[in-house]
Amino acid sequence: MCRGMAHTCVHWFRKGLRLHDNPALMAALRDCKELYPVFILDPHLHNNTCVGINRWRFLVGALKDLDCSLRGLNSRLFVVRGKPEEVFPELFDRWKVTKLTYEYDTEPYSLSRDKTVATLAKEHGVEVIYKISHTLYDTERIIEENSGKAPLTYNRMQVIVKTLGPPKRPVPAPTIEDMQGAMTPCSENHEKKYGIPTLEELGQDAAALGEEQFPGGEQEALRRLDKHMKRTGWVCSFEKPQTSPNSLSPSTTVLSPYVTFGCLSARTFWWRLAEVYQGKKHSSPPVSLHGQLLWREFFYTASVGISNFNKMEGNPVCTQVDWDTNPEYLAAWREARTGFPFIDAIMTQLRQEGWIHHLARHAVACFLTRGDLWISWEEGQKVFEELLLDGDWALNAGNWQWLSASAFFHQYFRVYSPVAFGKKTDKNGDYIKKYLPLLKKFPAEYIYEPWKAPRSVQQAAGCIVGKDYPQPIAKHEVISKKNIQRMKLAYAKRSGDSAESANKSPVKRQGTKRKAPSVVDMLKKKDRRK
Ligand code: FAD
Repeated sequence: MCRGMAHTCVHWFRKGLRLHDNPALMAALRDCKELYPVFILDPHLHNNTCVGINRWRFLVGALKDLDCSLRGLNSRLFVVRGKPEEVFPELFDRWKVTKLTYEYDTEPYSLSRDKTVATLAKEHGVEVIYKISHTLYDTERIIEENSGKAPLTYNRMQVIVKTLGPPKRPVPAPTIEDMQGAMTPCSENHEKKYGIPTLEELGQDAAALGEEQFPGGEQEALRRLDKHMKRTGWVCSFEKPQTSPNSLSPSTTVLSPYVTFGCLSARTFWWRLAEVYQGKKHSSPPVSLHGQLLWREFFYTASVGISNFNKMEGNPVCTQVDWDTNPEYLAAWREARTGFPFIDAIMTQLRQEGWIHHLARHAVACFLTRGDLWISWEEGQKVFEELLLDGDWALNAGNWQWLSASAFFHQYFRVYSPVAFGKKTDKNGDYIKKYLPLLKKFPAEYIYEPWKAPRSVQQAAGCIVGKDYPQPIAKHEVISKKNIQRMKLAYAKRSGDSAESANKSPVKRQGTKRKAPSVVDMLKKKDRRK
């Protein structure tokens, strides 16, 4: 076989921290004589206080796992410290690189970083190959199919996706055979120069860490995926609104951190589900697990097609709302001191474990924004970005806009009660007792509203409200009604309506606009049926 020039390749891992379904890595291995798998410890991330310790631990775990898998292929991971635009020219020269490969990343920071690096590569005579494998589809193709605009409803998204056919099949992980001829030159001081960072190096205090619930890495991702895919009945009957926000162990897959870091390919996830569904009766989008992956695709596409997606101002789909600036309320929410045990338990789980259920996210996001505290969704977005293991630029921004009824979802008059919502799936308050042990002696009757307990009950529970646990930060029944009116005004402004027309029944007005039923709608419907 006639082979072209053998290349010296750098495969740049950023997200996509995996070997399976990694088409860019496979492209690196084509006609390759030397392979350098690189991860850059970018100070943009490193100095970014918006990454919490749990997420750092997850990343370190994922890098260790990747290095271990690469060793199995007689290769190694090179963790390079520095800014990509400064590091690459030096690496290109030092290693005499001829090809650079990476997975396409649609985040604005990544796009501009990659543009700079691609220009530098060109200047150094380095060929650049990137592949799309973080999403199910090429999101730009979806936008093209939808006349140049991101679909704004899930229904529309489904129509477009149908025309594109199923997502591409994942590509297999490289084998030792694929590595034939591609060696990775490692020096003796590899560990010292290119080793995986410790949490200490990242400026984190490892002593502050709790038990690791969700270890990072591709092996763990595939293990979790296998475990779930064996639960055929559960997978086929999965309906997101039926899962519980406050079960003591997660009621959904918790594959999100793995998909976010790319330890698990969304396409692998999709096709494994398709195998389970094959020949069986199964649930459908939007509530099925396939449906969840389409939500991801929906928000990713929106983030590509809509400018200033993580902001209210300058974001053409986002309702402009006169949110309050209230550092005290924001701190109380962030630090689980709102006095609403359901909200505080969720925020505690988030800080301790780095993952909370989707409907728990609904509850705390609604509470912070249009429900109770009237604080901008951008503030909530920042806190989630710091604390979530699955913190994802596009999904976080998209879902916060949804929950605050700023975009995509417009039924602002449907507000979650910080008391009643949790009770539906956990009457006893066991979830609250797990995360707020201070309240564990309260009888079920008062666990969601301890301030209503008689003094004697508070004394017997060993917790006095106002002293040991805060009084509720807001009078939900009163404030949520006031906030609905404020939302009504914001909507009236948005549509250019007069204040008068804003007084029409919002149900009617929104009812005509609404196209696709949301997960929240379905949940409500289900409750009404009960
Ligand atoms: P499953 O129900 O098992 O779903 C499977 C996969 O589908 C998930 O792993 C995820 O990749 C995807 N998915 C599920 N629901 C959604 C959704 N609503 N939007 C997009 N993708 C979805 N998800 C993130 O991954 N990163 C975020 O930063 C993020 N921020 C959020 C902020 C708010 C305010 C809200 C309400 C939701 C947010 N979500 C985010 C979406 C969702 O809550 C999580 O993806 C989901 O809870 C992850 O748990 P799971 O893996 O068990 O989900």
